[in-house]
Amino acid sequence: MNILIMGAPGTGKGTMSALIKEHYDVVHVSTGDMLRQAVAEKTEVGLKAQEYMNKGALVPDEVIHDIILERLAKDDIKKGFLFDGYPRTLEQAIDLDKILESLNMKIDHIIDLKVDDEILKDRITGRRTCKDCKEIYHIKNKPSKVEGVCDVCGGELIQRKDDTLEALSTRLEAYYASTKPVIEYYEKTGLVKTIDASKKAEEVFEDIKSVLG
Ligand SMILES: [Zn+2]
Repeated sequence: MNILIMGAPGTGKGTMSALIKEHYDVVHVSTGDMLRQAVAEKTEVGLKAQEYMNKGALVPDEVIHDIILERLAKDDIKKGFLFDGYPRTLEQAIDLDKILESLNMKIDHIIDLKVDDEILKDRITGRRTCKDCKEIYHIKNKPSKVEGVCDVCGGELIQRKDDTLEALSTRLEAYYASTKPVIEYYEKTGLVKTIDASKKAEEVFEDIKSVLG
């Protein structure tokens, strides 16, 4: 079974990906991991990608293309894959179709996690992270026993720069602008299933299972 999972920051995509991977025994493929792996293995494309990363530049689509092609051609993928965070743009979606076609593979399910923007803002801006052990809290949903102090190690709790309202708004805008055409593209295939991800994680996963079967 080959699956794509999509969702804005804060929709719980990482948690759901881990649950799907475990339950369905698929290979979890994220572009970040693939890049790191290719770089570590010093493959030809990995070295190319590293040149861009060293410069602090975005790795261009044609390099990502080669990395995905290389990854999907490996044997372990035959049991199924879960793509996480890719494709991010319409161009990448069209390109992924070409890659899959050339390998005689196809996508079976597309899961789109949806959470109302107001709930996302509440989830993200209420998040506090321990400066020392990185334990994550939430001022309403998972407060520390003593305000501003980590239960685990006594370290100081901080709001990460990414977790401010301003940063989140920018990330959401960028996410919607680039992925809206992707969702529209896939909607024509009839594969997209929108999942209400504002519920509890266990409930969201139950809904995902009823889609994947
Ligand atoms: Zn701590």
